[in-house]
Amino acid sequence: MPLFEQKLKGRVYLVGAGPGDPGLITLRGVECLAQADVVLYDYLVNAQILEHVAARAELVCLGRHGHGRIWPQPAINERLVAEARAGKIVVRLKGGDPAVFARVGEEVTALTAAGIDFEVVPGITAALAASSYAGIPLTHRDAASAVALVTGHESDKQEPALDYRALATFPGTLVFYMGVTSAAQWAGELMAAGKPAATPAVIVRRCSWPDQRSVHCTLATVADRVADQKIRPPALVIVGEAVSHDVARSWFTSRPLFGIRVMITRPKGQAEPLRRRLCELGAEVIVQPAIAIGPPNDWSAVDFALRRLPEFEWLVFSSVNGVAYFLGRLCSAHGDLRLLAGVKLAAIGPGTSEELAKYHLQTDVVPTEFRAEALADELARQAAGRRVLLVRASRGRETLAERLTSGGALVEQVVAYQSRDVASPDAEISELLRAGRIDWITVTSSAIARALAAMFGDDLRRAKLATISPITSAAFRDCGFEAAAEAKTYTMDGVVEAILEFGNPPP
Ligand code: SAH
Repeated sequence: MPLFEQKLKGRVYLVGAGPGDPGLITLRGVECLAQADVVLYDYLVNAQILEHVAARAELVCLGRHGHGRIWPQPAINERLVAEARAGKIVVRLKGGDPAVFARVGEEVTALTAAGIDFEVVPGITAALAASSYAGIPLTHRDAASAVALVTGHESDKQEPALDYRALATFPGTLVFYMGVTSAAQWAGELMAAGKPAATPAVIVRRCSWPDQRSVHCTLATVADRVADQKIRPPALVIVGEAVSHDVARSWFTSRPLFGIRVMITRPKGQAEPLRRRLCELGAEVIVQPAIAIGPPNDWSAVDFALRRLPEFEWLVFSSVNGVAYFLGRLCSAHGDLRLLAGVKLAAIGPGTSEELAKYHLQTDVVPTEFRAEALADELARQAAGRRVLLVRASRGRETLAERLTSGGALVEQVVAYQSRDVASPDAEISELLRAGRIDWITVTSSAIARALAAMFGDDLRRAKLATISPITSAAFRDCGFEAAAEAKTYTMDGVVEAILEFGNPPP
């Protein structure tokens, strides 16, 4: 086939998304998602994995058990074929591994029959993740020399009946998928076939998700535990002597913020470092921006200030955004960083000076305490009688300008970006908050504090508030809310520390 025709041909990637944790997809899987025109995904796939998909691509959810329509397999096959025939790059994204209880065979058969190119990208199947994330070895030198992945799903008549006698004498660990609602049946059959009732077992629900749970039991009690612990799918049950050798306790559930849900409120595009830090500590993080940041209505004031930069001796930045917008404009409209050659640089804190460092600019002054008052005090001596350009947001405190002026500096201010409140929150997040299911809300500026008060009102009392500084706490207090924890160092890491310390106060 000529190359151009080959190029026009659609193809299908059958990709394993892993069990939940968005870090458990393969690099190849991410590459496929980035190229896709259409992604057909299982409901169980973590939505964060879909962030690898290009904005132009179409996302199709294949339905959720018990919530409306689930796509029957023939309809999925047809859609895969139709999209590929239309020349599209299609990803069929499946929970876990595509070849473990995931009907990959049927999809491959349909694609082959239609003459469509495909690739299968493996994923981490739930049994392997449960072993790593819940601290349960699947094989053990003394107790298990083999592993069997078994379906506990009894109603699907198309599958051959299980040979329980063979399973009862299997020399190793049995992992039951889809076996929650049918636990009484398969456990009963196994015992009837001679597997000892006292065989250790563990039920692992939602492994690698922030709400992972495991319940230890025995073959005899597995069905009772499912009932009394109200275990719902997705869960699997691991049965065998290896289970009692779980020397390695779960690293995953013993992280300090495991089981804690934190809402972060930073503006869009600026939540990532804080999100990552909290996730690494085990928290479930949801992002609800309270304010939105954007360029100024027009650039004329910034351009005017940029042209006059050589007149100033100090350039003072009170936020990361100030650096990003001011220097961004400098580079895009004026094109030469040497405009900054003669000025000294001051930043309110380490985040702001790190932003300057991205432009290979060293900050001359960063206060030891990261707030306006401290910056003004430290600059006072050096800036007295000097011309200072203060880069700021469309709103914010006047403290820095006032203090510098009263210290004798000749201050000019320039608005480099707009900050406005986000009007209404995500409906699902509001619901979680109202239901008391958000443990912490991080509040990393006074503007965010006020925006949150306007956005959620009294519902904010249903979560604990962690603020970045006494100023932010005071802004919240003015709105009628008291912070439960306040950062000692006025940085994102300081907020995280404050949350950690709340749960684990120093002696
Ligand atoms: N292809 C998937 C399995 C699909 S069958 C894989 O390789 O993992 C669906 C079953 O997988 C569920 O009923 C449950 O038994 C199991 N499962 C999927 N994700 C799980 C998770 N995060 N924790 C525990 N069990 C899970």
